[in-house]
Amino acid sequence: MALVLCPECGEETLDRLTNCPLCDKPLAEEQQTSETTRLLIYAVLFLLGLTAATLCNTMGYTRTAISLAIVGIIGMVAMILKVGRS
Ligand SMILES: [Zn+2]
Repeated sequence: MALVLCPECGEETLDRLTNCPLCDKPLAEEQQTSETTRLLIYAVLFLLGLTAATLCNTMGYTRTAISLAIVGIIGMVAMILKVGRS
């Protein structure tokens, strides 16, 4: 358990609380930012995976294309799960 300072009123609160008990300001903003970043990574993984898979397929590298398509699909599924939970 650690103490954090509320960005709104400066009150010391426990870091496991999601909102400041004094002014009700949400304390988990940094976590939300990192989750958005993670979502972006999944989206990039999905787009890159499928683009590279299409490219490899065009060039005749079927096995590489399948592997890359799987990476893309994993990225997509992770993205959907993330969006569905929030
Ligand atoms: Zn506060």
